[in-house]
Amino acid sequence: MESEALLPIEQERLVTRIAWRIRQSLDLGNILDTTVAEVRELLDTDRVVVYRFSTDWTGVVTTEAVLPGWPALIHQQFEDVCFTSNYIHPYQEGRVGNISNIESAPIQPCHREMLQRFAVRANLVVPILQGVTLWGLLILHHCRGPRPWTDLEINLLQDLALQVGIAIQQSELYAQVQRLNSTLETQVQERTRELRQILEFTDVLSQITHRVRDSLDERHVLQTAVEELGQVLRVDYCGAALYNLEHTKAVMHYEYLRPQVRSLLGEALILEEWGGTLPQPEQTRLLMPIQDDRGVLGYLLLGHHSNRAFSPSEQQLGRQVANQCGIALRQARLYQSAQTQVQELSHLNQMKDEFLSAVSHELRTPMTNMKLAIRLLKLNLGERELEAQTKGEQYLKILQDECDREIHLINNLLDLQRLDSGQFTPQWDQIRIQEWLPAVLTPFQERIREREQGFHLDLSADLPPFVGDVSSLERVIVELVNNACKYTPSQGRISASLSCREGQFQLRVCNTGVEIPQGELEKVFEKFYRVPSADPWKQGGTGLGLALVQKLVQYMGGEISVTSSGNQTCFHVHVPNHNPG
Ligand code: ADP
Repeated sequence: MESEALLPIEQERLVTRIAWRIRQSLDLGNILDTTVAEVRELLDTDRVVVYRFSTDWTGVVTTEAVLPGWPALIHQQFEDVCFTSNYIHPYQEGRVGNISNIESAPIQPCHREMLQRFAVRANLVVPILQGVTLWGLLILHHCRGPRPWTDLEINLLQDLALQVGIAIQQSELYAQVQRLNSTLETQVQERTRELRQILEFTDVLSQITHRVRDSLDERHVLQTAVEELGQVLRVDYCGAALYNLEHTKAVMHYEYLRPQVRSLLGEALILEEWGGTLPQPEQTRLLMPIQDDRGVLGYLLLGHHSNRAFSPSEQQLGRQVANQCGIALRQARLYQSAQTQVQELSHLNQMKDEFLSAVSHELRTPMTNMKLAIRLLKLNLGERELEAQTKGEQYLKILQDECDREIHLINNLLDLQRLDSGQFTPQWDQIRIQEWLPAVLTPFQERIREREQGFHLDLSADLPPFVGDVSSLERVIVELVNNACKYTPSQGRISASLSCREGQFQLRVCNTGVEIPQGELEKVFEKFYRVPSADPWKQGGTGLGLALVQKLVQYMGGEISVTSSGNQTCFHVHVPNHNPG
């Protein structure tokens, strides 16, 4: 028989060759292919296969060398019900299955049937072990007839199974190393990408910080931030919402968005919709508070429509930009309020200058007139008696009038100061308006006639007696009528009316000729304020009259307002009447 021709030397050579190949190659499939082919040829048998077990002890033929004419078993799964109970244990112990004749061997019928199905007449089975684990089997099938296996052949197969075991271990280790390598490589790539992104983001953050901090303009700060952040993170939406003054809602003011994305400008932000106050990881929306040391000023929002989650470094960049915005915003707002203060101060300064020049002028004019009257009075002393008396009376009147003007101005200043410091004392009295008011207005008659103005007084017939601070009421009426005379042109009309409703006295003083622009209406009650270029007849003034009037009215528990339209200006005063009846 050919098998008997196998010499130990040939066996050793074969084992050495296969062992060498195993060391050369890491391709298990290749090693097994050549092993089964060489063994089949050397032992001149009909089929050599490698059978590999799965964890449930089913298995499959993974490698095969078979002579033509015999059925091929490659990829077949044996279904031998008695295999698990009868064979696994001996194989696990490394024992060899040696059957020289299937027909006469003491094997289970099911086993015999299965072998006969594959035309096997004699077989030799050697376990392939991985440590203590049974990995598979190296199987020789002799099909052309029975065959007693020699010890030499059995030894050879055992040696080979050992080598195959080494090859399997080696290739599994190799595969493991490969897997580790590729995981490591992916990790390195991922980390490199992250580091690159962090570097890029650090760069971007420093650019945004510079741009944002360089600006003291709130709009520029936030518009720059949303645009740059939106572009760097390649999001569909990036917006900045700011709280209103009452801090009740945050409204979207600035945004960067891709085409087709809906704008949220002007809309109040619903925080719950954007995921609460803090950004949640793995979201396609991010909400980051813009805050400074005093609290939250608004929010930066990021959103995109894909499912891509914001990475930790993207979230960090967003938070850092929001922090920078908070600082820059506080800076811009401080600057803005400082600017407003500067403007207010310069306005006050201008008003003070104008007041000083007006007061000086107002104080000097009566003085000049008085000096002139005194000089004339002196000259007049030498003249004839009758003439001297007439002229003297005239000059004394001038002196009297100018003194009155001076005293009026000084009184206004003092009263305002008393009202401001709470030291004003009202003088309560009771009067009948019907008799009292015409007397108060008498001094204006001559002036109105001289300036050819029309005057009309309208008093309700059923006016009750007025009980209250009569002297303040007189100051209010005199000041308003005086202003009406001052600012009404010749041929213009002045009207005053007084009525009483539900315990309130209602005074109205109107005049034609000068209209106060709407924007200036409220300012006329400010101290020292004079409407620019609204004194065409150069009547002069200090801007104190209406401030005093308003203070007095408020002191009496009333209100004053002004309307001006259609070439007519009206002052409306309401004061309570403390008349018990
Ligand atoms: P002034 O000493 O300048 O008259 P007021 O406080 O009395 O100061 O008035 C403030 C400004 O309001 C005036 O300078 C004038 O421009 C405007 N004004 C006041 N009363 C009238 C009025 N009856 N008609 C038109 N303008 C008026």
